[in-house]
Amino acid sequence: MYIGCHLSVAKGYEKMALDALSIGANVFQFFSRNPRGSSSKAIDLKDVEKMKAILKENNFGPILAHAPYILNLASFNDNTYGMSKSILKVDYEMLNSISIPYFNFHPGNHMGKGIDYGIQRIADALNEIITGNENTMILLETMSGKGTEIGKSFEEIKSIIDRVKYNELIGVCIDTCHVYSAGYDIVNDLEGVIDEFDDKIGLNRLKAVHINDSMMEFNSHKDRHATIGEGTIGLNAIENIINHPALRKLPFYLETPNDLNGHRKEIELLKGLYDEH
Ligand code: FE
Ligand code: FE
Ligand code: ZN
Repeated sequence: MYIGCHLSVAKGYEKMALDALSIGANVFQFFSRNPRGSSSKAIDLKDVEKMKAILKENNFGPILAHAPYILNLASFNDNTYGMSKSILKVDYEMLNSISIPYFNFHPGNHMGKGIDYGIQRIADALNEIITGNENTMILLETMSGKGTEIGKSFEEIKSIIDRVKYNELIGVCIDTCHVYSAGYDIVNDLEGVIDEFDDKIGLNRLKAVHINDSMMEFNSHKDRHATIGEGTIGLNAIENIINHPALRKLPFYLETPNDLNGHRKEIELLKGLYDEH
């Protein structure tokens, strides 16, 4: 199985690969730049090459970059919108140049302008950013639907995809905490949720899973991650998710409130629950 967690990029790329190895991970996620600020520093290509050598030697799965949280590609404020587009574009070019396969982002918040307005804004931005010549795929993350967040339903995700010209470069990342708080019952009806995803979006678009438990109730539209087995989703449902035929080959990335050693234990736990066949 491909399992790993979110790692800090602060000490460089090779360090992330070494950290991943030290906790038994064979994939990981990192922020494309500092999540709170908006500064990006020039990339150290030697460091990237060292990371790649480790990934190759240890048969790692696809590495996932996550865009900063401060972006809002659905914003009606032209300053916010312009800043969000330029950060996404710069980071997308950088990730593409170092062949990172996936770049995940939160679709955005319409801030009262309405879902359709927000979806069009996001699609317009993506149409400015994606030239069709890239190899890195942009992933839309499923959201919990807090406030005016877009991406809380499979329909919303699909309508963004439909409005993007080069949408062969668009995929989806399911976050288990987010979909559960958005009202998709992956605990009692995993099969139904997967069927619905296939119906509305198509399973061929599904490229990655953020594997998180949730501190909040089902359908709460609140986004608080819990460590695996300690939340409202629970270990039994998590076991079903990682073993489901439609999901089991996908890369799983933990974004649980844990340090490296805690993640090591979660990875060990999940590997133990995974059916090797
Ligand atoms: Fe996210
Ligand atoms: Fe997530
Ligand atoms: Zn979240």
